[in-house]
Amino acid sequence: MEVLKKDIQYIKGVGPKRLYLLNKMKIYNVEDMLYHFPRDYENRSISKKIIDIKPGEKTTLYGVVARGCQSTYVRKGLSINKYLVKDSTGYINIVFFNQPYMKNKFKPNDTLMINGKVKMGLQGLEMTNPVYEKVEANRATFSTDGIIPIYPSTEGFSQSQIINIQKNILEEDLNHIIDYLPDKLVTRNKLCNLSYALRHIHLPASIQHLRIAKYRLVFDELFLLQLALIKIKKNTLKEEKTVSLKENTQIDKLIKNLPFSLTNSQKNVLEEIFKDLEKDIPMNRLVQGDVGSGKTVVAVIALYKAVINGCQGALMAPTEILAEQHYKSLEQLLEPLGIRVGLLIGSLTKTKKQKLLDDIQKGEIDIIIGTHALIQESVYFKRLALVVTDEQHRFGVRQRATLVAKGDNPHILVMTATPIPRTLALILYGDLDISIIDELPPGRKEIKTYCLTSEEKDRGYNFAKNQLELGRQVYIVCPLVEESEAIEAKAATEIKEELEKSYFLNYKVGLLHGKMNPKDKEEVMKQFVENKLHVLVATTVIEVGVNVPNATVMIIENAERFGLAQLHQLRGRVGRGSEQSYCILIHNNKSKIAKERMKIMEETTDGFIISEKDLEIRGPGEFFGLRQHGLPDLKIANLFKHMKILKKVQEEIEDLLKEDPYLNFEKYPQLKLKLQEKFQGFEGI
Ligand code: ADP
Ligand code: MG
Repeated sequence: MEVLKKDIQYIKGVGPKRLYLLNKMKIYNVEDMLYHFPRDYENRSISKKIIDIKPGEKTTLYGVVARGCQSTYVRKGLSINKYLVKDSTGYINIVFFNQPYMKNKFKPNDTLMINGKVKMGLQGLEMTNPVYEKVEANRATFSTDGIIPIYPSTEGFSQSQIINIQKNILEEDLNHIIDYLPDKLVTRNKLCNLSYALRHIHLPASIQHLRIAKYRLVFDELFLLQLALIKIKKNTLKEEKTVSLKENTQIDKLIKNLPFSLTNSQKNVLEEIFKDLEKDIPMNRLVQGDVGSGKTVVAVIALYKAVINGCQGALMAPTEILAEQHYKSLEQLLEPLGIRVGLLIGSLTKTKKQKLLDDIQKGEIDIIIGTHALIQESVYFKRLALVVTDEQHRFGVRQRATLVAKGDNPHILVMTATPIPRTLALILYGDLDISIIDELPPGRKEIKTYCLTSEEKDRGYNFAKNQLELGRQVYIVCPLVEESEAIEAKAATEIKEELEKSYFLNYKVGLLHGKMNPKDKEEVMKQFVENKLHVLVATTVIEVGVNVPNATVMIIENAERFGLAQLHQLRGRVGRGSEQSYCILIHNNKSKIAKERMKIMEETTDGFIISEKDLEIRGPGEFFGLRQHGLPDLKIANLFKHMKILKKVQEEIEDLLKEDPYLNFEKYPQLKLKLQEKFQGFEGI
């Protein structure tokens, strides 16, 4: 049996208790243990003499045990084992709390290397619960170059215990473990072999060794993940057939009738979509485009294509407000061409809803618009060929299942305004093809953004008042309270009441928050759209999609609480008309990071740059959890920090795809096995 599969209980140093703890950390065999990577390292190659140590610092020192164990049993669960250690310059006490096994662990004259934080105790210098290693008298050095791994651990399992188990594993014969990466890939990317990597990630002989090891393991992790995603996409879709939408003739008419001409970017993306729709396998495409880049019209044209091919289309939006707006634009553009558009929302009366559902089933409605939930759950189509989901990126292969289960196998188009770098998109949306609208329609004025501290907010509100006097409208976004929608709603209500008594005394102020019922929300939105309300005080419920061109000012309170990407989305609610628009960020936090973030918002309106900065500051884990995807967590790679490696990985996979389009890996059986093992249970692997 391969050494990697050896049960961890057969490794020296693993007794029943440690076995239990290891299992708790999901470590069952040698491989699990080897892939239990250090979360950090400490370079202890620099040691100090006792005389040079200052209390409060963390340090490494070599010494000899001067006095054997002094053991004190304080009470159940609290024991103290103490040793006195000396070197040529002085003495230090080494104290172990609650580590009964440290009793009589060392004898006088044992030579130790110890590392820990030093403090001044009652009896002089003292180090509590240090990491230690017994060393031979003349060879006072770690088996490594003093670069000591620090492992994620669990209670009752000390660092030195984990290190010892790793050492014992590394003494096993790892030279023959199977390297599943194709040779040419290893050579081309100058990767070390797998056993080298696994050895030096745990006990690096030097910083250089560690770097080489880490590169290989990061490469592997990203490679396997990306490969799996692409294979899932290829294989789950290749057998499916769907209706190909070839008819094109009337599309030019629709495009000619638009009140504007399409940007080149929109045209390119449409071309990509059309190519997909004309195939008899389902499209799975993501369109990324910054706020205001004109994604809706692209969706409309695609939906129109479905209809002139005798099929139905659906457009799903995340909120009812947005669904309604879409309904209005589609109705306006498509009804003159004889297309029947329907709106399915929760607030419909029962009879109306039933009538609509019947019409959809009979094929008397061509395009249905509604929220994600509604369309996925309750609708049956006569001949559904295209589903567009707006502002949602988590609609991948897996979510298709609900639609496929209805006997339809529609083309799918996902639209998102959260732009992320292509390299990242390829892995996060690994199961989708990607199109990018990277151009805004001409004539847009860039939104001017200003940051004010809360002491300066007067200026912001007076400015808003001036804009109101010019006939414009204003959004006020209330502080984000992530834990509680109720508190958020309450705060919003208070802000509204205060504002209508002060700055906006002469204007009509509306309120929009998540605790309101859909009907009330809708009514408020409608009044704002019709300029019957001049100011809209809102929580983030306005984040997506809402379009009121006459609104030219947005004030965001406690802007520091929002993520950059979110601020960018919010800001996208203004700047939708021909007038100059403004975004005023009021912030409270004087920390460096907060200031830096505000500055980024002032300096750029490019969603791609903003999302990159956002990733840089927050880390991609927070950006989109891989877990949302149902995929294993990354153990060593960081999607943002290792973007360059990810890019190399993607190039290699492109190359593999050329010789093996469905990734069957006839030539690389070990790679195939590895993938099957790692992504067990995923369809298409
Ligand atoms: P988003 O990509 O944020 O969903 P929308 O589709 O809502 O953007 O478009 C924003 C605004 O830009 C809409 O008012 C739309 O009519 C307009 N628009 C879209 N495409 C163009 C274009 N090519 N030229 C001019 N205006 C456009
Ligand atoms: Mg939109």
